[in-house]
Amino acid sequence: MSQSSNFCPALVGSMSQGAAGNPTVAMMEAAFAHHQLDWRYINMEVSPEELGAAVRGAKSMGYRGFNCSLPHKVTVIEHLDGLGESAALMGAVNCVVRRGDRFIGENTDGKGFLKSLESITVARGKSVVLFGSGGAARAIAVELALAGAKKITIVNRTQERGAELAALLRDKLKIESGWVHWSGTFFVPAGTDIVINATSIGLYDAEARLDIDTDSLQPGMVVADVIGNPPRTRWIRDAQSRGCAALDGLGMLVNQGIIGVQYWTGIEPDAVVMRRALEKSLGL
Ligand code: NDP
Repeated sequence: MSQSSNFCPALVGSMSQGAAGNPTVAMMEAAFAHHQLDWRYINMEVSPEELGAAVRGAKSMGYRGFNCSLPHKVTVIEHLDGLGESAALMGAVNCVVRRGDRFIGENTDGKGFLKSLESITVARGKSVVLFGSGGAARAIAVELALAGAKKITIVNRTQERGAELAALLRDKLKIESGWVHWSGTFFVPAGTDIVINATSIGLYDAEARLDIDTDSLQPGMVVADVIGNPPRTRWIRDAQSRGCAALDGLGMLVNQGIIGVQYWTGIEPDAVVMRRALEKSLGL
């Protein structure tokens, strides 16, 4: 290791387990190259036992930050110096940013979704139906609430997580929220503005169906999916056939990347360049 870091690029990266060939690397490096930034995004395989040492190592080596994915999103918190507002509410971090000497945990999952949504509509005052209660659903729900959504109905298969998310939204974010048990075909209520699939249904399976009556989708509704691979899920195609505006999961992923680059470098990267790199890396 050299004594001076003058000739080293600025470093960010991803701490994950078993994520070789992460398309995020291609997307981030395309942004750095396009904007002629002397930065590198490096995928690092880190076991849960070594997470603390890896975070301390990244700090010592001058990393400007890193993303972290499962299984590190919650356990990384004890190794950080502070949390952003939404990461603290969610209790999960997927993006760490060096601010001065401190590593601060942020969560860009929901922020990426919100930025993608804002290409079509705003969250303020909207009535939302959200399928799922896992990490992605939690992140999206918290950001929608912080952005002023009027009401969020959580529809989930398992009671515990669904009820807990609705309670978080009511108690900590003070918005109208309830939980519906998803145990048969669900009818989207009239008056809903935004309908989101935040479950893993559709991942790697373009024909997988959500158990929802698609006739209950109305043309004025915005329909979104978290699934980025494949981007044209059955849910997205059904929504489009009903005349709804549709947002695929790739938009959420690209916008997460954009927010990460903004946090680390301070520049606004080119979204088209990043989406193209991501699609190429996914073979789309
Ligand atoms: P989790 O495992 O935390 O949650 C999965 C959720 O899906 C749970 O609520 C689960 O319900 C529900 N679910 C799974 N299978 C079914 C089924 N057959 N019927 C009904 N509900 C089901 O995963 P995450 O929240 O972390 O991720 C969810 C998806 O979001 C993943 O596919 C991931 O790839 C994607 N994602 C996309 C991002 C993007 O940027 N586009 C970012 C982050 C995630 P239950 O609670 O009952 O088990």
